[in-house]
Amino acid sequence: MIMKTIVVCSGGLDSVTLAYKVAAEHNLHSLISFDYGQRHKKELDFAARTARDLGVKHHIVDLTPVGALLTGSSLTSDDIDVPDGHYAEETMRVTVVPNRNAIMLAVAFGAAASAGADAVAAAVHGGDHFIYPDCRPDFIKSFQAMQDHALEGVRDVTLYTPFVNVSKADIALEAGRLGVPVDLTWSCYKGGETHCGRCGTCVERREALELAGVKDPTVYVDREYWKQARADHRARQLAAHETASVSASNNAAE
Ligand SMILES: [Zn+2]
Repeated sequence: MIMKTIVVCSGGLDSVTLAYKVAAEHNLHSLISFDYGQRHKKELDFAARTARDLGVKHHIVDLTPVGALLTGSSLTSDDIDVPDGHYAEETMRVTVVPNRNAIMLAVAFGAAASAGADAVAAAVHGGDHFIYPDCRPDFIKSFQAMQDHALEGVRDVTLYTPFVNVSKADIALEAGRLGVPVDLTWSCYKGGETHCGRCGTCVERREALELAGVKDPTVYVDREYWKQARADHRARQLAAHETASVSASNNAAE
C-alpha cells in the first residue's frame, strides 16, 4: 500500500535517507523537524534543504521550552561535553535526551492525523538500541498501540520504521542505492563548521559509509579517528568478554 507519509527528519544521514526512501516508494507528504534546543541546530538547515530537493513542505516545530526541561544530556546542556569515541560505548549515555522520541512522535502523529496522512516515518535503527531505549522495537510497537487508542475513530496512522532492525551500514547502502547526497546531511553532535569526525555519531557515520562502500565527500576535521575508536571499542569488548568467561569458569570450579 502506498502511504501518504510525514517523515520526521533531523537532517542526519538516517532520516534524510528515509525521506528519499519514502519519496521513492510512497507518497511523501512533508518533513517535520524539531528544535528542542539541541546544540547542533545546523542539522535543521540540512533537513530544510532535503525538503526543498524533494519538493515538499518542511515544518520546524519549536520545542525549545520543552528541551529546556530535558536537562542532563550533552545534547541539550552546554555544560556537559559531547564525548569522543565509538557510539556503542557506555560514555555515550550522556547523549540521551529523556523521552525525546515519544515527545516528537506524539506531535508528528497529531500533525499526520490533521493532514489526513497514513503514516509517520521515523529513522530509528538497530545500532541505536544499545544506548537509546526509545529506538527499540518494543517502544515502536507500544507507541503504535498507544496511538491506535489515542486516534481511535479519528484517523489510522501507521508508525513506519523500516530501519528499526537494520544496521547503520545497511542504511548507508540504502543511501547509496537511492542516490542520497550524503554530504548534504548533518550528523555531528558538536555542530561546528564541519563534521568533527570524533563524536559518537561522526564515528558511526564514517564507519557505516565505509562498510557500505559508499563514497563520502563530507569534510571531517579528523577523517581517520573512527578507525581508532572502532579498534578501542573492540578491544574493550574482548576484554569484558574474557573477564566474564574467567569469572564464569571460576564460579563453575567453586
Ligand atoms: Zn562529530
